[in-house]
Amino acid sequence: MNRRAIVKGALGGVLGLTLPPLARSAFSQGSPAVVPVSEGFVMLTGAGGNVLVRTASTGQVLVDSGAAAFTDAVLADLRGLAGGGRATTVFNTHWHREQVGGNLAFGRSGVTIIAHEKTRAHLATDYYLQDEDRYEKALPAAAHPTVTFFTGDKTLAGNERIEYGHLLEAHTDGDIYVFFRDANVLAAGDAISPLKDPVLDWFGGGWLGGRVDAQEKLLKLSNEKTRIVPSYGPVVGRAELQAEFDMTRMLFDRMLDLVKQGMSAQDMLDAGLMKDLNRTFRDPFRFTYDAHKGYWAHHNSLSPDVL
Ligand SMILES: [Zn+2]
Repeated sequence: MNRRAIVKGALGGVLGLTLPPLARSAFSQGSPAVVPVSEGFVMLTGAGGNVLVRTASTGQVLVDSGAAAFTDAVLADLRGLAGGGRATTVFNTHWHREQVGGNLAFGRSGVTIIAHEKTRAHLATDYYLQDEDRYEKALPAAAHPTVTFFTGDKTLAGNERIEYGHLLEAHTDGDIYVFFRDANVLAAGDAISPLKDPVLDWFGGGWLGGRVDAQEKLLKLSNEKTRIVPSYGPVVGRAELQAEFDMTRMLFDRMLDLVKQGMSAQDMLDAGLMKDLNRTFRDPFRFTYDAHKGYWAHHNSLSPDVL
């Protein structure tokens, strides 16, 4: 039995808040694996970003489609699940390439792709990557979202309600959540980051204030039984989301104060920005630099004495 088969075997196990040890080990490996989320839901992990799958004989619903390099592997995994690989709907939580790489294959098969309008716009045009000083090319038309929205909407999968909405500027300018209300499964995209450092794509419109608001919105949508699926890392519960929100809020408040004092990212770190947080950052400077940049675009809304 190979590793993937073992992980798939874990699907029949107890679907508690904590993942089985074998599923947990999949996060550190390179190839996609199927891990349980709750009844009727699994997550493909290691395919770029996480891919949440609602499995059903009437058709599968996906949140995100993984990185392009993993499309064949994702499709193979889907064929082995209830619904036999027949996807009806794919949501994109945002426009980063690790979330939309499978869009082309799904779009060509006539699958409905739902995303925020900003995501469609980013995928339909070349856009500049400030970090890498190059343009990311537009995706072929078949990979573009076919249904877009600005604030939010809802749909049905069978009798099951799916609600989705914008998470304004939480990580990019096109972040959304997808909430399977009846199953109580909430896909949060990269608006939460339970394991790795939070990423603020400031050039793509993400900033700390947006992240605070987004996590507050996710807290309001969830209860103690909600299974919350991030773009990276394990499925979490409301307690973990609350802990991350508390940290994000503390960083926002501290940074607001330090921005008003005219500090640089390094000044802020030296002044104790990261002191006594409930987690340790792998690259504190990178996070602080990006978060600081995000404030620049929002000086006019911080408070009257900022400028
Ligand atoms: Zn992202």
